[in-house]
Amino acid sequence: MGGFFGVVSKSGCVEDLFYGTDYHSHLGTKRGGLVAHHRGEFIRFIHNIENAQFRSKLQDDILKMRGRLGIGVISDYEDQPLIIGSHLGVYAIVTVGVVRNLDELAKNVFGKRAAHFSEMSGGEVNPTELVATLINQEATFEDGIRHAQDAIEGSCSILLLTDKGIYAARDKLGRTPVVTGAKDGACAVTLETCALPNMDYEIDRYLGPGEIVWITEDGIERKQPPGDRVQICAFLWVYYGYPSSHYEGINVEVVRNRCGAALARRDSVEVDLVAGIPDSGTGHAIGYANERHLPYARPFVKYTPTWPRSFIPHNQRVRDLVAVMKLIPIRELIEDKRLVFCEDSIVRGTQLKQTIQRLYDCGAKEVHMRPACPPLVYGCKFLNFSRSRSELDLAARRSLCRIEGDGNASPEAYIDPDSENFQRMVEGVRKRLNLTTLQYQRMNDLVAAIGLPKEKLCTYCWDAAEP
Ligand code: SF4
Repeated sequence: MGGFFGVVSKSGCVEDLFYGTDYHSHLGTKRGGLVAHHRGEFIRFIHNIENAQFRSKLQDDILKMRGRLGIGVISDYEDQPLIIGSHLGVYAIVTVGVVRNLDELAKNVFGKRAAHFSEMSGGEVNPTELVATLINQEATFEDGIRHAQDAIEGSCSILLLTDKGIYAARDKLGRTPVVTGAKDGACAVTLETCALPNMDYEIDRYLGPGEIVWITEDGIERKQPPGDRVQICAFLWVYYGYPSSHYEGINVEVVRNRCGAALARRDSVEVDLVAGIPDSGTGHAIGYANERHLPYARPFVKYTPTWPRSFIPHNQRVRDLVAVMKLIPIRELIEDKRLVFCEDSIVRGTQLKQTIQRLYDCGAKEVHMRPACPPLVYGCKFLNFSRSRSELDLAARRSLCRIEGDGNASPEAYIDPDSENFQRMVEGVRKRLNLTTLQYQRMNDLVAAIGLPKEKLCTYCWDAAEP
């Protein structure tokens, strides 16, 4: 998915920029980049972060950076930040989201003579460059950002750095959060609010959907008011957000605890221990254990010194290797035990199947699974949640396709948790994963745990609901 961070400071911005961007490392595994503006010059560094962390890759670079204005990005796909020369002036830009109609928009650009794209590594148009090209088609940055967001199918949140300040724009339906922070002498803008407190920033405001602000040393000026429809991604709270972050003022860990409690209230299975698949299952499991007054334990610990990131690498072989290497079982907490595990979600189920087998290999008597969200049956089309994942690979989708005997069967008839179809689909997943029991979260419980009205949440990957 990716994340970004920006700073405008009366003194130097580089240190805050570096650490603030680093706090988005769980959101992407491909590229990390920073750009600062100093005395008429943009100083930029981009690194491949597939094999080493953002901090270790950029820690020497920041010694060469100066300036009071800067933006940074963790990108799960394209090279960013880009520095663009245009009739609007020179600027730098980072984006988060997915441009689904990239080819069509690129074709339109080529329709205008003398247009070109220069960031073609990998043979594809760089989506951030396309966004910049759309912005450049208008007379001002505000109009350009509006134009780009109107043209894009998918979602696109933007930070745009000029020599005077930063434009921050949240995507039109607010699928991703954009939040400003303030401290004496500096303003920050971030996707993850967990980037703020350790650098003494207080949350200043949560931008609304489609809102555009202009951040300078003098403060924050609204350039476009928020729209009235928001569809923030519910999966942020369930899985890929950081526990100490807040979206729309609602903390991630607190929601995970409530998700676990909701699962527990519908459960009466007899177990010895409650556990979470680390890291993102932990908050759900604590909520479950507390609600049922059962002991919480860690039968698996994660080897954090060298496997700290929780986001999934795109390459399947690397994913499988990481899945085995980063989790270390503790036999004393597994052998002869009946275990209930809370998990954020079951995506493909491939790694989970291995993890469950390892529990049986260590002597587990029973393994019960309680995912914190309903079965995933549709692929995400708004956030580039994982480009490489086909929705037909989703564990629940495969199960229902097997029932239907049709590899392309529609999930529509399998969404109602009270239907026989749903039960059969879940039973298919349970069998494949070799679980003793499997019980998913219900959509209304997930929505209640988040605490926003359902119409303000994107729940597309579970029920295909769209406004
Ligand atoms: S489809 Fe799923 S992952 Fe994508 S924005 Fe909606 S809730 Fe989030």
